[in-house]
Amino acid sequence: MRILITEDDAALAEALQFALAHAGYAVDWVGNGTAADEALKDDVFGLLILDLGLPKLDGFEVLRRLRRRNTALPVLILSGREKPEEKVLGLDLGADDYLVKPFSLNELQARVRALLRRSAGGSPPVICYGGLSFDTVERLVSVNGKALALSTHELGVLEVLVQRFGRVVSKARLVEQLYSYDKGVTQNAIEVYVHRLRRKLDGAGVTVKTQYARGYLLDYVNH
Ligand code: CA
Repeated sequence: MRILITEDDAALAEALQFALAHAGYAVDWVGNGTAADEALKDDVFGLLILDLGLPKLDGFEVLRRLRRRNTALPVLILSGREKPEEKVLGLDLGADDYLVKPFSLNELQARVRALLRRSAGGSPPVICYGGLSFDTVERLVSVNGKALALSTHELGVLEVLVQRFGRVVSKARLVEQLYSYDKGVTQNAIEVYVHRLRRKLDGAGVTVKTQYARGYLLDYVNH
């Protein structure tokens, strides 16, 4: 899951990035509204954290343009402006939640989880196949009831595959989903994460299969 942070206060952005990356999300950060508008056209994000007072293009305008493109991307506004009319405008423009600065990182993370839960709609946050269970909100994975220790990259790869269970995902798509974890993620690195995942999923009844020249899929072992 990639989250885009749009925030011109570098120290705050860094703290947010650190906390969310630690929670297992891939986090990208841009410091102005124009960069946010461009990044959002790519449509690879699962959530947007948006400051209102931004250079070049303010947060309201970023949001207006995003919603004009008709995306359902969950948006959490972070703002130092606490006037009720600004909150109202933000929510009316299509933000899903509004957090006034200063705020605690714990509260921010809880709100992010709540938004992701809501954006998953009626589908349960825990995805299970065979002995594998993947909690998409808490970002916990277990095999046959035992918690699995996964690196952030391994978790990222498994998340993409589990959400498209039984369908092939290209290596390029996996790289795109992991990009912000580490700018150096290559298709060769994906092979390494897949190799480790196979070992860790041993006994789960599901595994990562290779489709030659096409990519990978998560599927039942005997299928
Ligand atoms: Ca600002």
